[in-house]
Amino acid sequence: MSEVMKVTEIFGENVFNDAVMQERLPKKVYRELKKTIQEGKELETSIADVVAHEMKEWAIEKGATHYSHWFQPLTGATAEKHDAFISAPKQDGKVLMEFSGKELVKGEPDASSFPSGGLRATFEARGYTAWDCTSPAFVKKDAEGNGAILYIPTAFCSYNGEALDQKTPLLRSMEAIDKEAMRLLRLFGNTTSSKVIPSVGAEQEYFLVDREKYLKRKDLVFTGRTLFGAMPPKGQELDDHYFGAIRERIAAFMKDVNKELWKLGVSAKTQHNEVAPAQHELAPIYAQCNVAVDHNQLVMETLKQVAYKHNLQCLLHEKPFAGVNGSGKHNNWSLTTDDGINLLDPGKTPHDNIQFLLVLTCVLRAVDRHAKLLRESAADVGNDQRLGANEAPPAIISVFLGEQLEDVLEQLISTGEATHSLKGERLHTGVSTLPDFTKDATDRNRTSPFAFTGNKFEFRMVGSRDSVAAPNVILNTIVAEAFSEACDYLEEAEDFDRGVHDLIKKYAYEHQRIVFSGNGYSDEWVEEAKRRGLPNLKTMVDAIPALVEEESVEVFEKFGVFTRAELESRAEIKYEAYAKAVNIEARAMIDIASKHIIPAVITYITSLAKSINEVRQACAVAVIDVQEELLTQSSNLLAETKNALKELEKVTEEAAKKEEGMEQACFFERHVVPAMEHLRRPVDQLEMIVDKNIWPMPSYGDLLFEV
Ligand code: ADP
Ligand code: MG
Repeated sequence: MSEVMKVTEIFGENVFNDAVMQERLPKKVYRELKKTIQEGKELETSIADVVAHEMKEWAIEKGATHYSHWFQPLTGATAEKHDAFISAPKQDGKVLMEFSGKELVKGEPDASSFPSGGLRATFEARGYTAWDCTSPAFVKKDAEGNGAILYIPTAFCSYNGEALDQKTPLLRSMEAIDKEAMRLLRLFGNTTSSKVIPSVGAEQEYFLVDREKYLKRKDLVFTGRTLFGAMPPKGQELDDHYFGAIRERIAAFMKDVNKELWKLGVSAKTQHNEVAPAQHELAPIYAQCNVAVDHNQLVMETLKQVAYKHNLQCLLHEKPFAGVNGSGKHNNWSLTTDDGINLLDPGKTPHDNIQFLLVLTCVLRAVDRHAKLLRESAADVGNDQRLGANEAPPAIISVFLGEQLEDVLEQLISTGEATHSLKGERLHTGVSTLPDFTKDATDRNRTSPFAFTGNKFEFRMVGSRDSVAAPNVILNTIVAEAFSEACDYLEEAEDFDRGVHDLIKKYAYEHQRIVFSGNGYSDEWVEEAKRRGLPNLKTMVDAIPALVEEESVEVFEKFGVFTRAELESRAEIKYEAYAKAVNIEARAMIDIASKHIIPAVITYITSLAKSINEVRQACAVAVIDVQEELLTQSSNLLAETKNALKELEKVTEEAAKKEEGMEQACFFERHVVPAMEHLRRPVDQLEMIVDKNIWPMPSYGDLLFEV
């Protein structure tokens, strides 16, 4: 019999959370630390020393031997460097376990090998990690289950304080939105709340494949996605996988994932099969923005680690398989006060909730003005396969509000007054034994990239592999700007109510073009969006310039989120990341095509030719049309493959010679990516012809349906 998991007991057992702090820290120290966490008050060294000591004692009890400042540099992954707690050996040869406040608060990794986009010359290697005490420290066992490490979430900056990571700008943007949202609340007479915090829930999609088969796919191993592969006879057309019963092997995996996450205080809540075969989703309960970002990193790491133990491979790439759905991450975002008020909660009658309507129209204004930035925040090489490409939704930002709110806005725009809200009707199933209940006032729209879903916005463009930091930095900042402008106006207004009313109407009118409730995946929408003047940035390379446009620099500098230099460095890093990723894909394709596919096809063709000769010798009148046709067909495709391969080799070499940055990235996008597609086409056709026993790697069918 398997053991019963006591969820409430294991939840957070490896987290240095509030309960642990209360229990272990002296009262005064606890109070001081709370002040730092809640009010951003500076932490004194003497207090930090006590916290560090207790943290170390607690971690050692959990089996930890090392601590690590854990940070999120601009590589896309998290970074950690482990330091043992040990002190220098004493005369008697023994050591103590030590951890000081200074070590807790500040770390100094060599920053020279992390991307800085020109912010730092390589010889200026200093970088600092600084403890983010608002995201709790935790203990985690290493992948093999041997040693345990105390992880301390940190921000990562250069010697001059420039952000080299995801967390620093995120924390800055949280401060910006807090300040502006509080101004707004005060204007509406709120005297009880003292802080506004963005809440984020990141739903994570992923694929699981058998690890042994995965290892036979060099394209998956090197790039995270299949670079070749013909569609199996069955894809996702039956929709029988979505929410389908979860198979045993997968259920066992999910159970382990949940357990590991719960121990780390990640509130993994929802799990189900997704649309594509072998695709699944995990969603935690939402949390404070920076904690949710850290937790999402833990979710991704845990999915990979646990998969490994189950002899599975978790694929987090946005489009591991052509022809079936890709994976994304839905970033649910709302604004909550410290006393629990959700600024995005419309209440039952949104038309007379003027605070909500102002917040809502401010969001519309922010998204409309900075749609390019929001789009850019989801830009990633992998996401280029998922957004704006064939078989993918367009990369156009629009907002879905739902019938009820759209109706309120329409009333406002047409008459200047909103007098009523549509109500949810009763749902009648026509079956007497099923309960009737009141429906939501609004249906959902699954094709909208930015949808209002009851009391939060759901940004659905984010790629499955990416940190959710970037989109939240953008959301926090651009909405802070809209709030700030509204406050500037209202603080001067003679009649507050009139002022609010005018602003709501003005914003609704000026930004109605961003609201769209139709089918976001249709060709008509692409045309309609163009007419409305909405940007359609198809690729990552198209999107990057948004970071450094004048309007963007202005808003980021105004709210202290990024300096111009930081933005320029980020753009640089992104261009380089793009070029590097496509370069790896191209080289992987060249390698696989020349060393595996072409030899396999030649073997096949040779055996076919031999068989034709032998049959002919054996019987001069035997019909050999079929073999001959196959021989011609595969020989032609082989020639096509070889030509495409040559072309890909040529452009990849040319790309390497281009100047790093925008020029090189553009060359990769315009020349290398199409050359890769040209090589893939004949190879996928050959896969359908060549004997399965000869084909050098597992097929889509093997990968997707035999997990
Ligand atoms: P969906 O709306 O996509 O069907 P859920 O209602 O379960 O699914 O929510 C999806 C995610 O949104 C979950 O991570 C959930 O915790 C999160 N979420 C729910 N309410 C909020 C909120 N007010 N702010 C931010 N995230 C939220
Ligand atoms: Mg969702």
